Parts: sequence; structure tokens; C-alpha cells
Amino acid sequence: MCGIVGYIGSEKAVPMLMAGLKKLEYRGYDSAGIAVLDGKNAVKSQRSIGKLSALLELTEKDKTDGTLGIGHTRWATHGKPSVENAHPHTDCSGKIVVIHNGIVENYIELKARLSEGRHKFFSQTDTEVIPHLIEEHFSATHNMAEACRLTALELKGAQAILVVSEYEPDKIIAIRIGNAGGLIVGRDGKESYIASDLAAMADHARHVAYLESREMAVVGRDSVHYLTLDGATLVKKTTAVTEQMVSAGKGLFEHFMLKEISEQPECVLNALRGRMGFELADVLLEGIPFSKHEASEMRRIVLVGMGTSMHAAMVGRHYMERLAGVPTEIENASEFRYRDFIADPPPLVISISQSGETVDTLAGMEEAKRRGLRQITLCNTPGSQSSRLADYTLSLRCGPEIGVASTKTLASSIACLYLLALWIGKHNGHLDEKALEKQVQILAKAPDLVGRALSMTSSIKALAEKYHKANHFLYLGRGIDYPMAMEGAIKLKETAYVHAEGYAAGEMKHGPIALIDDSMPVLAIAPRNALYQKMVSNIQEVKARDGKVIAVATEGDTLLPTIADDIIFVPACDYLLEPLAILPALQLFAYYMAVHLKRDVDQPRNLAKSVTVE
Ligand code: GLU
Repeated sequence: MCGIVGYIGSEKAVPMLMAGLKKLEYRGYDSAGIAVLDGKNAVKSQRSIGKLSALLELTEKDKTDGTLGIGHTRWATHGKPSVENAHPHTDCSGKIVVIHNGIVENYIELKARLSEGRHKFFSQTDTEVIPHLIEEHFSATHNMAEACRLTALELKGAQAILVVSEYEPDKIIAIRIGNAGGLIVGRDGKESYIASDLAAMADHARHVAYLESREMAVVGRDSVHYLTLDGATLVKKTTAVTEQMVSAGKGLFEHFMLKEISEQPECVLNALRGRMGFELADVLLEGIPFSKHEASEMRRIVLVGMGTSMHAAMVGRHYMERLAGVPTEIENASEFRYRDFIADPPPLVISISQSGETVDTLAGMEEAKRRGLRQITLCNTPGSQSSRLADYTLSLRCGPEIGVASTKTLASSIACLYLLALWIGKHNGHLDEKALEKQVQILAKAPDLVGRALSMTSSIKALAEKYHKANHFLYLGRGIDYPMAMEGAIKLKETAYVHAEGYAAGEMKHGPIALIDDSMPVLAIAPRNALYQKMVSNIQEVKARDGKVIAVATEGDTLLPTIADDIIFVPACDYLLEPLAILPALQLFAYYMAVHLKRDVDQPRNLAKSVTVE
């Protein structure tokens, strides 16, 4: 993860920026950097690789006065961790300075275009195109906010950007595009703060406003002007920062579950950061202790998990079979550990456990270890027991998940399993260079996709209100969406205490159809894919029996609205990414059902975050 801070006021900027970055330190970093406009309004940048303490040393040795500045901690996506790739980045004149979180997806074409002109680049980052684009637009408009807005319109991908310049030295411009990573503007009297996380400004800001996608803020000492990327002025609602918001760590969210659902675009981005080469279309799992030979000898994979993690495993099977071409089984860990499991041919065991402490999963892993099987674990807690048992840990990089019902760790698990399948498929030759490139391009869209999925969910609250009195639900899905039917049902059970079953839609006629009447809503996951017609038939079968159908459909679908009682639209995407497009809607439906029913959302009865007993 990475962090952004900005300060403009009457105090010295450097200590403010360093204190803010310190609060974001838990996110980890490859490098850190700041840029401050000094007393003469000249930009002074300081950058260093590694820990924040290295930057601190630098700023203490070479002090800069100035009351306006920006700071960044980097988690490299494009270009190695190095001083030249560290942020801030500048234009040719060095007068326009930018820090950036996220990915400029179209930076290759932008860089090619800019390089044809007089622009020179000094880093391997995607970020560096941004100050150069601003420079171009500024020389045409002589207006920094307008130059930034026009630049933002040229950028593809989800990102957050801060800009300062010597040309207009009394402002910081903040831009948010897409939903990967937040951007908050805080105010207190004659001072303004900007940060990717409330924690970084909580000691100072009295009021905060959250930038949404395609919004920007021109932040001055006395005032902030908000506008959309279309150029329209915005009146943003601000919220007073309360003690409770700060100490509970929930920010403006009523519950951790909602906060964590909305963090998913960033979690997916973090899961992919540094593990995919965007330029060379490659998968880079640093330190993975498997040789190419071992990958090509792999005859079998066993995916092990419990609850939501088992649903990740079910999605993962599609990835392993399709992208790695390896026969794959899914095991419920609590059953796996007691079976006479036949380890011939010896499988690669991939376990998934957000806590890394799930007792059944650990027991399964111990058994696998006893039999000398190679193991990879996916886990969100560094140093957990599962990490100690496995040969390799793929960290989910979600930050702490406080809500007992897992949300963001599933999104990240799905992204990590996709990556892992690509890594195996690359090394065993199942994916040639072209196929790998295509898949990397698809996976790179995942963070933005989850962000778009979240922004399409405004109707779900009302839907939950409409259905909150139903006592039973049936969730149906097919193919890669079947695990999402299971996940939707489990979320509803655990957070709203409403009985729900997740079924493969083809299984409906083998029993569950007998339950259908007008009091049992059916949530049918039916995106536009090769199985769409089959799902439409299943929906018709439910309707023929007076069932109520909530259809999860691809945006733009005109047929399902005419058949189903209610529709939840999700963004169109490649088949293998569908679980990530659908997941936020199911999580939010369960969340709002639980809220309507006044449940204890973050700590549902009878449950615990890590299941450490059998
Ligand atoms: N893509 C940019 C880079 O690699 C920004 C990474 C970040 O979000 O820290 O430098």
C-alpha cells in the first residue's frame, strides 16, 4: 500500500508531512519523498529509498523552510524501488511536481507521444508522464487547475494525484480518478491537509471532505475549491472529525464491514503491486521457492480453505485449470484433515486463511507437511502460523480486517490466486507469451473493476429495505459465479442472521425448487457470459413458480429487467474477473440487510474472527 499527504498553512511543512507519512507507515513502502515550496517559492524535493527514517535523516540534515508541501510513500508498480523512481516526479523545468498513487494504464502511449516532443524522462515509472502532460496543458492554458484537469482526462486507470508548482505557488491540486485509494481534504482555520487516510491528518483537521472518483480539489490556505473532471464546480459535504472517528479507526463509516468493503479496490491493487510487470506483461512472485522444473512437473493442485476462504478456493480452481492447465481439487479443511487423502501424484497444496490461524486449515497443512508436500499459503497476517508451515506465503496485503465477516480479504485472495495461476501457467508452458500478456492485461483491470462495481451499488440499500423481512433466500450461480452464490449466502447468514443457501443453479431442480414460493426470494447471478441463457432459463423456472427474483446482471442487459422483480447491475468484464465484479454487490446486500435488522454487524453473534478451535 502507499500513502499520500499534503499540507498548506502557516506552519513549517516538512514536520507536518513527515508526521503524516509516519501515520501511514503501517502501509509499508519502497521509497519515500517530499516536495516543499521554500521561502522563495522554489520547489525543493527530497527522496530516499527504504524506510521513512532515511528520508527523515535527509530532511534533518538539509532543512527546508516553507509552508506548503506534499509527501509520498511508494509501493512500486512500474520501475524498481530506487531514488530516481521515488516520488515526487517533475516536468522538464522542474517547476511542476507530482506525487501519485495507482497506475496510469495508458502511460506507454502517453510517454511515446511526449518523448516525440521535447520531453525527457528520468524514471521508469508510469507516474512521470503526469507532470509532463501538465506542463503541456499549462503552456496552452496558463492555468494550473485547468492544466491538471485536462491531464486527468487523458489518464486511464484508478489513481490519486497531488500537484504543486512554482507557477502558482499558493495551492495544492488533488485529483482522484477511479476508486483505488482514497483522498481526503481536511481543514482547520487557515490550514489545509490532504491525505489518503484520515489517520494522517486526524490530529489537525477539524472538518474533512472525501474526494470521489473524477473529482478534484484546488486546496489553498483559506479555502478549497472542488470541481468535477468535467469542470463543474462542486459543493462538497464536509464532516466534523470526532474523537470517536479517529480512535475507532472507522473514519466516516458506520461499521468496519462497510469500510472494509469500500477498501477493496485498494486491496486488489495492493495484491498486484510489484507482482505483475505491467510493461513486459509478466508475473513476478519474488522469492517463490519453486523452480521452473518443479512448475512444469506439477500434476495436481489441492486448494484448501474454510468458509469465505473456501469460496476463494472455488474461484481459484477455475484459474488453476484454465490458466495453469493443472487438475485442481478443492478441500474443506475440516474434512480434508480427517480423510485418507491420497497424495499420489503429490499435489501442490495451496491454503487460504486470512488470519493464518484457522485451526482446521493449519491441521491440513501440518498433514501435508508430514507427507512432504510442497505448500503455498495465502494469508493477511504477516508472521502467522500458516506462513511458518508453508514453503511460500503470498501476502494478501489488505491491512487489518476488523469486521468479523471477511470481505476485503476475499477480493484480495481472488486476485492472488489469479496471479499464482498465471505464474504456474507461465512456467509450465501452458500460457505462451501472448496468452500471458493478454491475461496480465485483464488482471490489471481488476482494481478499477472493483471500484466501478462499488460505485454501481447505490440501489442496494433500498433493495435490502424491501426484502429485509424475508426469512429465507436462495442464491444461484453458475461456473465461476457459483462460488459467489455461496459467498452471498454465507454473508447473509453471518451478518443478517437470515437463512440462505448458495447453490449451483443447475442443482436447483434437484431439490431446492420445492422450496420456492412467493416468500422465498431467489438471488440469481446472471452476468452476460457463455452460461447466461442457462441462468435465464433457471430464472424463468423460478418465476413460473411465483418466486421473487433479484437478478445480478451485466450493465446494459435489457432482457433481465423484463423478467426479474429487481435488478442489481454490475460492470461488464472478462469472464475470469466476474467474481470481483459481483462480490461488492453481494457484500453490500448482506450488510444493509444486517443494518435494517439491527444486527451487530461487525461482531455477529456466535462468531469469531479467527477460528482457532475445531
Ligand atoms: N505507479 C506508481 C509507481 O510505481 C505509483 C505507485 C504507488 O501507488 O505508490 O511509482
